[in-house]
Amino acid sequence: MSSMAIEEEKQTAANPLDEEAASAVVKELRASFVSGKTRSYQWRVSQLNGILKLITKKEREIVDALRSDLSKPELESQVYEISMLKNSCKLAIKELRKWMKPEKVKTSIAVFPASAEIVSEPLGAILVISAWNYPFLLSLDPVVGAIASGNVVVLKPSELAPATSSLLAKLLGEYMDSSCIRVVEGAVAETSALLEQKWDKICYTGNGRVGRIVMASAAKHLTPVLLELGGKSPVIVDSGINLQVACRRIIVGKWGCNNGQACISPDYIITTKDFAPKLVDSLKQELENFYGKNQLESKDLSRIVNPHHFARLTKLLDEDKVSGKIVHGGETDKTNLRIAPTILLDVPQDSLIMSEEIFGPLLPILTVEKMADSFDLINSGTKPLAAYLFTNKKKLKEHFVNTVSAGGLVVNDTTIHLAVPSLPFGGVGESGMGAYHGKFSFDAFSHKKAVVYRGFFGDASIRYPPYTKGKLRILKALISGGISGIIRALFGWPKA
Ligand code: NAD
Repeated sequence: MSSMAIEEEKQTAANPLDEEAASAVVKELRASFVSGKTRSYQWRVSQLNGILKLITKKEREIVDALRSDLSKPELESQVYEISMLKNSCKLAIKELRKWMKPEKVKTSIAVFPASAEIVSEPLGAILVISAWNYPFLLSLDPVVGAIASGNVVVLKPSELAPATSSLLAKLLGEYMDSSCIRVVEGAVAETSALLEQKWDKICYTGNGRVGRIVMASAAKHLTPVLLELGGKSPVIVDSGINLQVACRRIIVGKWGCNNGQACISPDYIITTKDFAPKLVDSLKQELENFYGKNQLESKDLSRIVNPHHFARLTKLLDEDKVSGKIVHGGETDKTNLRIAPTILLDVPQDSLIMSEEIFGPLLPILTVEKMADSFDLINSGTKPLAAYLFTNKKKLKEHFVNTVSAGGLVVNDTTIHLAVPSLPFGGVGESGMGAYHGKFSFDAFSHKKAVVYRGFFGDASIRYPPYTKGKLRILKALISGGISGIIRALFGWPKA
């Protein structure tokens, strides 16, 4: 039995949840939802404050759990997991009244006199299935949205980050209303038991293979899904730029984000043949400035999450047509699950490393004759979660924004769109469906209910039988909306 399988077995034995138990959890939470307690502004804010409180009080335990699961450097835990979640809670608390307020909208002359509004109502019971790479943020950030919109929630953290998973179970039990918010720990068996239940929305973060399993299960109950998946996020590097700044921003988005185990980390670079040597030299120089000469042992880099992913990544490096292409790094340490930052130049496009998302510290560089070819190269693959361009040329920026389809784009930096709460965060095509963050999180877990109000005054008889040619003429004009058409119809004049 592999070590991963043993880990899975242990988890399952420690925390069994079969379909019957899963059904009981959902039943209990639904009863709380039906009681109406989650709908009030006060309940929502109190739960968001509960999350804020647990982050503040248990910061040390969170940092330690992330170190235990991934050797995640404290700075990365503080910035990308703890602070981002804090900001997300604070924004929701600050904006909640505004978000909850029904939005008045215009009505048409066809329904005059009437008023209309869009009412955001909670969907009901939400299932959040989270991934291991940012196990704290990716578990609780969707929960923030689900609570802000007044839902009950079950969170299923990733079993591949066991310390964070059990910490979340403990802390949510202590700080949140457990009649409405639960953590269910476990692996495939537990997730499958949860997926058998009827939910009102499922938010899944992880790979596309399991995304398909989630969507197929959801289809049985016509449950909508928010799928936060991944993909091969490219970086195009043009010449004539501030190369040092570009390389620092590429490095921090790649190795400075959980050692490349991040969904929006640069997956590969495209540059011109002529410019590639300069780019490689600069990347090497900046890597050394950041991580020193012995990068394999740098304390500022996360380790690979487990032996399975270590073997997956070294297999990509060991492929015959790829192993000779390493121009930097390539060192591995199986015992400590470490792989040094590794750059490869001119790997063939039919290699393994170019056919799947890398999700680790390996960075291939592909070369093209001219910059414009890079867009065709990106568009020949599936739509990525993010795409980046470094250039000073206005035309190239425009071309990039207009022709590359990806979850998000950044010009002259990497990954920072994630930290802009006024932008939706999500994929397109193979990189996912739906989006969240900021107000988008509130909207993702709300139903936008259309409401029209009328009185009894102004009851026009033209919509009622008996139907006549005159009524038909006026109704057609009313529905198509133009004032001059309506006046013509009222007076029986021919169309203009
Ligand atoms: P993972 O292994 O932690 O799996 C994710 C979740 O799926 C876990 O909770 C796991 O228990 C569950 N799961 C696994 N197999 C299952 C099965 N057969 N049936 C039901 N549930 C199952 O994470 P992962 O998939 O390795 O995560 C990495 C992927 O996630 C990458 O593709 C990455 O790009 C993507 N990702 C996307 C985002 C985003 O926000 N878009 C964030 C992080 C990771």
